[in-house]
Amino acid sequence: MAYRITDDCTGCDECVEQCPISAIEPAEPIYVIDFTCCDFEECLVACPVDAIVPVTDD
Ligand code: SF4
Ligand code: SF4
Repeated sequence: MAYRITDDCTGCDECVEQCPISAIEPAEPIYVIDFTCCDFEECLVACPVDAIVPVTDD
């Protein structure tokens, strides 16, 4: 499963520091998770505003 970052992102940087494969890039207006994301989920736990959610097909 891959994950994406929603508009709730505040750019706090917590997830970037936690991702073991550096799959999260700072961007404007919200941070972006790239295609290398492979489900470690450290970023979900780190995000203080629950802005990281699973990518769904619909
Ligand atoms: S789910 Fe895992 S691999 Fe994907 S961005 Fe978060 S910490 Fe990185
Ligand atoms: S931890 Fe959450 S709020 Fe902070 S930069 Fe990452 S996605 Fe955005």
